[in-house]
Amino acid sequence: MKKIVTVLGARPQFIKAAVLSRVIKAHNTIEEVIVHTGQHFDTNMSEVFFDEMMIPIPTYNLDINRMSHGAMTGKMIVEIEKILNIEKPDALVVYGDTNSTIAGALAAKKMQIKVVHIEAGLRSFNMKMPEEINRILTDRISDLLSCPTQTAMNNLKQEGFDSLPVLIENHGDIMKDAVTYYSKLSAKKSSIIKDQKLESNRFVLATIHRQENTDDLKKLTAIFAALEEIHKTQPVILPIHPRTKAILKKWSIQPKVTIIDPVGYYSMLELLKNCSMVITDSGGLQKEAFFNSKHCIIVRDETEWTELVNHGFAKVVGSNTKTILETFQFYKESKIDFSTELYGNNIGENIYQSIYQLIH
Ligand code: UDP
Repeated sequence: MKKIVTVLGARPQFIKAAVLSRVIKAHNTIEEVIVHTGQHFDTNMSEVFFDEMMIPIPTYNLDINRMSHGAMTGKMIVEIEKILNIEKPDALVVYGDTNSTIAGALAAKKMQIKVVHIEAGLRSFNMKMPEEINRILTDRISDLLSCPTQTAMNNLKQEGFDSLPVLIENHGDIMKDAVTYYSKLSAKKSSIIKDQKLESNRFVLATIHRQENTDDLKKLTAIFAALEEIHKTQPVILPIHPRTKAILKKWSIQPKVTIIDPVGYYSMLELLKNCSMVITDSGGLQKEAFFNSKHCIIVRDETEWTELVNHGFAKVVGSNTKTILETFQFYKESKIDFSTELYGNNIGENIYQSIYQLIH
């Protein structure tokens, strides 16, 4: 049986990998070995997803975290190379744009192992973002580039990928499969709406964790000022990322919104289904808002998911308090139809078929 090694390490990667692992298992034609780099390690940032989403237990757990970008990426490359020497896979699969993504891709490519990049072609065109650096470099050394959107395909074309001997395919966004599959189970699995005493359509779901916001006190306080203002009219519930929690503690900021620990995927889906709107700097959450027919206020200066903005489902507002509040008011009145298809169907299966072709 052919073998792939999947390298993952961060929360959004667990959610995406859950989809593909299930498809791989069902076909029973490819063996998957999972390597967890340990980039996210708290129980509620990692273990909960493996448990809830039935992701196979990683064969290797590298426990590499709490380091600078360079040290972390370097150490990951060293350790992944050792594993690839043992496992000798036919391909290595990475997701998204984290240090685990670039480390896995680089280790494999130097050993002539084929690299599959899921979520290829996304661009923010902001080279200050660590994620943008990771995704551009990973794309360039990948053999199969699995794009989530036509925009991502166009980005690669623009960068001259058409002339490279690589496979570039628009498979759709794997997150859509995750939302579709796990949403069917979430109401039974999570009681968060009841536990938090939330009323359907009467609260806002917010998450903030991007380095560009957490590491800039002016931006962070401006965003929280808007959230506090909104919280006076509708509860704002914010599952807090460890990075944001540490920064708020460092500056002794105690925002007057409902801050809760990070939640598992079932609870997140229940919050998404029942909220009135989403305010976030997360990549994944922007689309999950759309899949749940909710508007999304993007507290960043750009987005990789431009089709959401072009269709009027989401708005990029930066960190300006007034603009966030104006957009909140504007979306409160909105009656937009969310039924447009933007992210494909049967994405896990599409990706599986391409990987199968690549290694057979
Ligand atoms: N998420 C979750 N629990 C939380 C916060 C987020 O399950 O407490 C999920 C969210 O629904 C999405 C993913 O984690 O699927 C997004 O991860 P994150 O925002 O950390 O990363 P990004 O998508 O920005 O790369």
